[in-house]
Amino acid sequence: MKVGITSLKLLRDVRVMIEANSKKETEALGNKIEETCGAELEVNIQKRRNSRLVLLSIPEDIKLENVEETLAKQTPELEIKEGDIRAKFCYTTKRETRNLLLEVDSGTRKKLIQARIKLGWAICRVDDYIVAIRCFRCSRYNHNFRDCREEETCPLCTGSHKLRDCTAAKSEYKCINCLVYNRHYQTNQIDIAHSSLDKSCPSLQAVLEKYKQNTDY
Ligand SMILES: [Zn+2]
Ligand SMILES: [Zn+2]
Ligand SMILES: [Zn+2]
Repeated sequence: MKVGITSLKLLRDVRVMIEANSKKETEALGNKIEETCGAELEVNIQKRRNSRLVLLSIPEDIKLENVEETLAKQTPELEIKEGDIRAKFCYTTKRETRNLLLEVDSGTRKKLIQARIKLGWAICRVDDYIVAIRCFRCSRYNHNFRDCREEETCPLCTGSHKLRDCTAAKSEYKCINCLVYNRHYQTNQIDIAHSSLDKSCPSLQAVLEKYKQNTDY
């Protein structure tokens, strides 16, 4: 079929996930499966996520309801049309600044990411918003505690207790995700002597990289 399969995984809920290199290849594969075993298998092609951007340090009077209109009015050169921007939520940072999260397609992202965004009297920066979902019960990625099927695992030392009950010294920190990786691939290539909350954790970097690959930039 001239389709390169990059990974094939059994998911927990009796589904199989197959990854190919491009949309075209995924569709070809999907069609073939439907054609030959459509009676037994149901094909779902996963779309890439829209990209998420964060508008940083926005003024008080910019809200979810008026951000698109304000952008269109104050930066007409970007040619933002109604519906190009989906404002998702606002949040206040530790430094008491307000940020606003947007979902956009790749064309709109390109326009916004290079621009100086005027909002009211302020000039705002735009950044990609990339986060990893980490379960606070087991410290693994890509599910939250409601869907957790793993043992409770301390994010600092991999012990079976909560973070707040941890008595490990920094020298005893161990990362569960890197440990599992090494075990799975039967290596000890990855250094595990760090907390799984560490921003430079190789497993976290891999999760973020994967997130980027699945996002439509
Ligand atoms: Zn979990
Ligand atoms: Zn601990
Ligand atoms: Zn790690």
